[in-house]
Amino acid sequence: MSTEQVVGRFAPSPTGPLHFGSLIAAVGSYCLARRNGGKWLLRMEDLDPPRVVPGAADEILSALDNLELHWDGEVVWQSQRTEAYAEAVEKLRQRGLVFDCACSRKEILLSAPHPGENGPIYPGTCRTGLRPGRKPRALRIEVNKEQVCFSDGVFGPLQQILSEAVGDFVLRRADGLFAYQLAVVVDDEAAGINQVVRGADLLSSTPRQIFLHACLGNPVPEYVHLPLAMEEEGKKISKRHGPVQLDYDHNAAELIARSLRFLGQTVPGSLQGAPPKELLAWAIQNFDQRKIPVAAEGLMVTDLPL
Ligand code: GLU
Repeated sequence: MSTEQVVGRFAPSPTGPLHFGSLIAAVGSYCLARRNGGKWLLRMEDLDPPRVVPGAADEILSALDNLELHWDGEVVWQSQRTEAYAEAVEKLRQRGLVFDCACSRKEILLSAPHPGENGPIYPGTCRTGLRPGRKPRALRIEVNKEQVCFSDGVFGPLQQILSEAVGDFVLRRADGLFAYQLAVVVDDEAAGINQVVRGADLLSSTPRQIFLHACLGNPVPEYVHLPLAMEEEGKKISKRHGPVQLDYDHNAAELIARSLRFLGQTVPGSLQGAPPKELLAWAIQNFDQRKIPVAAEGLMVTDLPL
């Protein structure tokens, strides 16, 4: 066992109020970071202005306050981190890993060999330079055929060959915005994050992020992916499709208890009606990672909203 202090984080996107799915990630990452006296940081992923909902970031922060999920240090705002992303791209460019790509979405769809789980696999069209008359749109990173392997704290050993699963992926989009995959890696590294706890919908992004960490010479964090909360079969709870507005002002304790139960923890009956602080104090002492259900398809939540 390493004695390094755990530095975990919660990284919501302010695309709406905190829904039950992101609450699970907040509670899970909080307990796993704090249980060994670790730090828990907060990053607002407001990288994509068209998707940001005005007021959502403040709502998320005040919900976390009501839940007594208090973070360490200042909130990091991705919208203020463009310089760091540009620097990382420059570093990768100097290592000969970055290339301009002129392909439109439609062209990639038409030329991709077969659609992967993560969308069409980039066929490598612009890898060796742009054809005459073509204008650069996105920036991509060259991937390879090596297997990216990692052991997830819930889902166990996993591997992916990036050239087969996604192909060369985007670092800066055609609209000039830096891609999520790059931003997460740069921000996690800058903050010294060594434990990433989040929803299992991001499991398929993890090999790309591990690859980027390796290309940048960063240590790779530990990954723990939590089962997704589903509204109904095959449909995860999200703020984009039919938000379930939770009442963090009045039901904070019950929402924490439900999150802990969703994560497989047995909250003692004696804590029935206890305030959030007490529940969390119990959870920090007793959270058992081995009890988190391994549910690749997600788990249904039947008793919301609250
Ligand atoms: N911002 C992402 C989300 O809200 C989470 C990113 C991450 O945890 O790496 O789904």
